[in-house]
Amino acid sequence: MSVHIDVNNRLVHDQEHNLALTCPHCQVLSHITPVGVPSYATLAANKPKHIGIVYRCDACNEPVFLRFTAKVYAANRVELASHYVEIERAREKFTFTYLPEEVEELFKEALNCYTAGCLNAFASMCRRVAQAVFADLGEAGKLQVYDQLNEVRDMAGVDSETFADVKAILFSRDGESPAPMPKPDTYQAGVLLEVMKDMLYQVYIRKGRMQQAMMVRRFFADEAAGNNVTPITRTGA
Ligand SMILES: [Zn+2]
Repeated sequence: MSVHIDVNNRLVHDQEHNLALTCPHCQVLSHITPVGVPSYATLAANKPKHIGIVYRCDACNEPVFLRFTAKVYAANRVELASHYVEIERAREKFTFTYLPEEVEELFKEALNCYTAGCLNAFASMCRRVAQAVFADLGEAGKLQVYDQLNEVRDMAGVDSETFADVKAILFSRDGESPAPMPKPDTYQAGVLLEVMKDMLYQVYIRKGRMQQAMMVRRFFADEAAGNNVTPITRTGA
């Protein structure tokens, strides 16, 4: 893949038609079109290490900012590294229904850290979420989560090093940990995120949905049996 800006200020990108990402505004995996490219003259005069380019999301028209690393300043072009950084990343989606208020508040903040690329802060927030969940569920719940984590490892084939780090992040406490808090890399943070979503789903959302569904079934069954008529008593009217 080669990307450069030529002397006529045109962005030439051989994979331009394949350039797609999850838009931070509309959350759609969309093609993006360059709309703001810095001029060759300005770049050649200042030779910045990084170059920002503004794109337009083809799905929602909102601006998407990408940062490229300048590779070579040549006489007729500025070559850019093919890899870019998304300045604003799409937020992670999660349904918070059925989560206790404290867990919801902490996990929302954890997701904000993840979206901002603050992975150590994300790991620390995940530990706080886990502690709030364990405090809510008690010792039996903690064991349940532990078993679920082992299940995820087996199902998804998580490597032993990543798994050990995720376990240490969730089950050790600050100050008690035999080793320092693990510092997750991008992949490990991604695994941790999936583990957290699965844990919260299993512990709260699945149970909440099931109880809700059973309540609806009971309501219709009772109604069919004709014993769901609640007498309305008016007082004082
Ligand atoms: Zn969009």
